[in-house]
Amino acid sequence: MPEKIEVRFGKGLKVLDVIENPVPHVVVDSRKELHGWWPGKRECTAERLLVNPYNGCSIDCSFCYAKALPGYFQNYRERGVVTVCRDFDRVVAKQLDSIDLASCGYLSPVTDPFQPVNHTYHLSEKIIEEFVGRNIPVEFITKEAVSDRVIGLLKRQSHSFGQFSVLTLQETQRRLLMRGGATTDDLFDCMTRMAESGVHTVCRVDPIIPYITDDVRGLEGLIERAVDSGASHIVASVMDIPLSMVSEVYKKFSVFGQGVVFDMKRLFSQRIDNGLHADIGYRKRLFDHLRNSCDSLGVTFALCMEYDLGDGIPVGLNGEFMSSTNCEGIDIPLYVRNGDRFEPAAECDGACLSCENPLCGVEDLALGKIDWQKPGFKLSDYRSWTRERARTAQEPLFS
Ligand code: SF4
Ligand code: SF4
Repeated sequence: MPEKIEVRFGKGLKVLDVIENPVPHVVVDSRKELHGWWPGKRECTAERLLVNPYNGCSIDCSFCYAKALPGYFQNYRERGVVTVCRDFDRVVAKQLDSIDLASCGYLSPVTDPFQPVNHTYHLSEKIIEEFVGRNIPVEFITKEAVSDRVIGLLKRQSHSFGQFSVLTLQETQRRLLMRGGATTDDLFDCMTRMAESGVHTVCRVDPIIPYITDDVRGLEGLIERAVDSGASHIVASVMDIPLSMVSEVYKKFSVFGQGVVFDMKRLFSQRIDNGLHADIGYRKRLFDHLRNSCDSLGVTFALCMEYDLGDGIPVGLNGEFMSSTNCEGIDIPLYVRNGDRFEPAAECDGACLSCENPLCGVEDLALGKIDWQKPGFKLSDYRSWTRERARTAQEPLFS
């Protein structure tokens, strides 16, 4: 008899069978919609269509902030059960067919798209196919090895790319930080294969864990190896800890010794919104080193979601440390439908966050400055831009 799990749907409750292999998971119908970055603070320069075919992630990093998220994510945090969205590629396909304007797709903001359960369902490959088949760019971030099929798909779409997260060169240390994930050697091998096939390849040192992976020489060695493996852009961040997970996270890090936990507790002194952040002086010193390393190796550098407080308001640190135009090191415009396929909507760098002249025709996208109150874009926004475009019969601005 399979184990059962109770899952809350709005006000109702459903009982689902837990499938044990390859990892415990349940399969649910989902009508989740593609959407943009979440409301609140944002440093991401370019707009994205975020896609999560899975909720919960069995790579199970000690520092995973997604465990603090509500809904299905709690199934993983409390019971180790991943949630799979049944046939989600078809749901995504229908949504892409309902819009004439599309940003680059992003697999996946809060789970690893190539985690073990994907070996059974292959939703990530299928979703990439839906994007690439329409010539819409798509990107992924992973700590897993990716297949030649994925690389071959990305190669077919000129703005599609991939990012690999590598936290440390020391394999023993990596295994203490996460239950799953590919070996460091395998990740560098994937970077090499992807870069050699001409696809933009990013290495993320994200997050750096204070007192565990923050040795500057070690980080410089990691960046050098990433560059040797074909990465042309580096993204970094220092771990932050959601307030709701502080004791859980410190408990996990106790495998590195109580001294490490003691030092961490002193360092994580800055509260920004709902998270604890490492002391700003510590973070800036580290980022300064990494930026210099990248400069001397001839690759670009950016931070992910790193802030200080200015008059109590979070202020992004990329203004000080980023050397690329866009934080992922690649310039991708909005795409517009041309029959069954999409084409770039404008000859722009895709840095919507600072765009003052929305040549793509979508004024809403050109934020000009960070608007803390603005909600993230939804599929309904893309549909309304589509209607507006049809109403004004805009000629496509193909580049
Ligand atoms: S790979 Fe990402 S989503 Fe998965 S457990 Fe690690 S931090 Fe969380
Ligand atoms: S024209 Fe401006 S708002 Fe439109 S996609 Fe390009 S950068 Fe973004």
